[in-house]
Amino acid sequence: MAKRYRPVVAESYVTSGFGARWGTQHRGTDFGLSGGSANMPVYAAQGGTVVYAGAASGFGGPDPAGWVVIDHPTADGSGTTVYGHIIREVALGERVEAGQRIGRVNPNKATNGNVAPHLHFEVHKSTWLPGAQIDPVPWLGDAASPDTSQMSAKPETMQDGVLFGVDISNHQNGIPLKRVASEGFKFVIIKATEGTWKDPILHSHLADARTTDMQVAAYVYVRSTASAKAHADTLASHLSDTSVPIALDIEDGAGADPNFWRAVRDEIEARGYRVILTYLPKWYWDQVGQPSLAGLPPLWTSRYPDMIRGYASEIYTRAGSKGWEGYGGLDVRIWQFTSTANVAGYGIDANAFRRSEAELVKLFTGKSNTKTFLEVLMSDTVKSFINPGKTFPAPTALSLIDASNWRSEVLTEALLQALGFDTEKILAAAIEADNSGADRSLAIGQALNLKEKK
Ligand SMILES: [Zn+2]
Repeated sequence: MAKRYRPVVAESYVTSGFGARWGTQHRGTDFGLSGGSANMPVYAAQGGTVVYAGAASGFGGPDPAGWVVIDHPTADGSGTTVYGHIIREVALGERVEAGQRIGRVNPNKATNGNVAPHLHFEVHKSTWLPGAQIDPVPWLGDAASPDTSQMSAKPETMQDGVLFGVDISNHQNGIPLKRVASEGFKFVIIKATEGTWKDPILHSHLADARTTDMQVAAYVYVRSTASAKAHADTLASHLSDTSVPIALDIEDGAGADPNFWRAVRDEIEARGYRVILTYLPKWYWDQVGQPSLAGLPPLWTSRYPDMIRGYASEIYTRAGSKGWEGYGGLDVRIWQFTSTANVAGYGIDANAFRRSEAELVKLFTGKSNTKTFLEVLMSDTVKSFINPGKTFPAPTALSLIDASNWRSEVLTEALLQALGFDTEKILAAAIEADNSGADRSLAIGQALNLKEKK
């Protein structure tokens, strides 16, 4: 029999069962999460075709709020399933697979049919027919729990070349960073110190972050009441690992003297850390008289379109592009575009990085992957992937790269790009393989061959 999945994550539970309720019949089973079900992901119980999607009486609207109804062919287990009070993430007519994420619980009473957020799940024995529902709980039986790692597929994944990250402090004690990573966030910046104060949650956040493949940095909130040396001493006594890159946080309380900020940076670097970012919101730069910031690391700016809670990707789409404009002579590298993003059940700051994952790694680790890239390209395994019998111009690429004697990383990359290869994709494949412990040569070889499939 085709595999069947629970429509909700393993931690969820039945909040209202099938059958008589308040003198009427409840035709489905409601699922929720303790602590609230807003944005809880919803999964297809079986494979099939989406036959209704969007606004529906009782379940809310306008589209994409409402419901999703999936018709299951016999091969997929037959029957029809209904998912109500959700925001759809699949389209009418679309084929979905068992266990695939299809939407999320609509958190908004105004558009979810005026209910406390939850999933209403129905099973119809054959086609959708009101009154013909059966009890979903025995139907689900010992159905598998959905693979929540696919939460990264939507909605926080890379969009138009933007990667998302979060920043956290003692105020987010307990935030599950594994879940943050599974929702698609690629980096986390953790508060380390503020003047001579040490954030007590730094180490548990760091340990948690290191169980993920997110890039990790720490930040130092600069206080004009402490000396530059005191900032560095405090950091060194709190965070012994100097490989963690540091961001300076310059805002209220940090004074107005760029020379002091540079001195803080110098003292921290003198103790062996890399200082990679200057968090200095535009409003603060205006407030302190728009000084030159020359010599400081690139900006981590902050500018919010509104204070409306939502997914980072949704908020980012309405944030415009002004946040990418630099000031004080510095470019913006990271943009904190909201403080109200839904992340792993918390409402927190979210940040955008508008470059490739390879460049994110380079910013945080200081290490370029191009050497690795070349080493791998030169390996026999990869050469065997560049099969002269194939139709794409790999033999030309290979001969040109050979002609360059593999000496220049820049030239090699430029040649590959000129020949139509997606070198970002190749680098990303290498990084991903490294992170997952997979064979890097094989991953790169496959990435090179992606071109064939176009
Ligand atoms: Zn219900």
